[in-house]
Amino acid sequence: MKYIFGPVASRRFGMSLGIDLSPDKKRCNFDCIYCELERAKPIIKYDNPPSVDEIFKEAQKAVNQFDFDVLTITSNGEPTLYPYLDELIDKLKKLNKKLLILSNSSTINQKQIQNALKKLDIVKLSLDSVNPKTFKKIDRPYKDISLQNIINGIIEFRQNYKGELIIEVLVVKGINDKKEEFIALNDVLSKIKPDRVDISTIDRPPAYNVKGVSIKKLFELAENIKNQNVFIPTREKIDYKIENLTKEELLNTLKKRPFSQSDVKNILDSHTQKIFNDLIKENLIEEVWVGGVKFYKAYV
Ligand code: SF4
Repeated sequence: MKYIFGPVASRRFGMSLGIDLSPDKKRCNFDCIYCELERAKPIIKYDNPPSVDEIFKEAQKAVNQFDFDVLTITSNGEPTLYPYLDELIDKLKKLNKKLLILSNSSTINQKQIQNALKKLDIVKLSLDSVNPKTFKKIDRPYKDISLQNIINGIIEFRQNYKGELIIEVLVVKGINDKKEEFIALNDVLSKIKPDRVDISTIDRPPAYNVKGVSIKKLFELAENIKNQNVFIPTREKIDYKIENLTKEELLNTLKKRPFSQSDVKNILDSHTQKIFNDLIKENLIEEVWVGGVKFYKAYV
């Protein structure tokens, strides 16, 4: 198959069957320093796009063949540059599968892109920095792309979108790993009101000579993000612990920052885990699923 890959087990979305809208080469309007693909000059227009029918036929076949949780629209590049995206989404909806797109947010200020994405069950938009200088350094966008337009576009999209909106922040060592970056990000996130914020770092060889940060650092930076469902996907053992909280302290923390299922398992010490289990038994904590990830939050 040319356009379909997987299913693959994703820490963030469950079993995902991927649709690659640019399988032959990278087509992106960013050239992120952390990209897993080769460096490439950002482009603004998709050349030689495949037909909707060509992609849909493969998707239809794969849907009948595999078991998975979500059908993910992605690309070697930016999927919203595909010129027939709206038509493709309309066809894919006929397959009655949960639909997700992974976008870099660059086009979200465009009405026609918002209208197309509104039809999806989950929309993941990247926002690596809200500081224009850092944004340019990390995402290396096409010259006409403005961070302010992106932020305004995301806020506007959220107001009209009923599905699950996930904002992804990828942290690069020495670039967007400062507390001030995250305090400013927190401010913008409070205006966006996403359903989930994913904070991750480089875990595959990047296009440029840059490094990721430790998982401990991600958890420390995440402390600046308030009142959001923050998810830090991790494979490695975590050197970060929340220790010896009292019942009131844990309840207060869960009011401000819900924990994912993996946080409960990996970052609560045994004493706090016991308190957590007591709170569950007492019915003081509710479970919430966001984009395939389970969170626990305190009833307010
Ligand atoms: S948006 Fe994605 S595909 Fe494009 S350069 Fe950045 S990481 Fe690579």
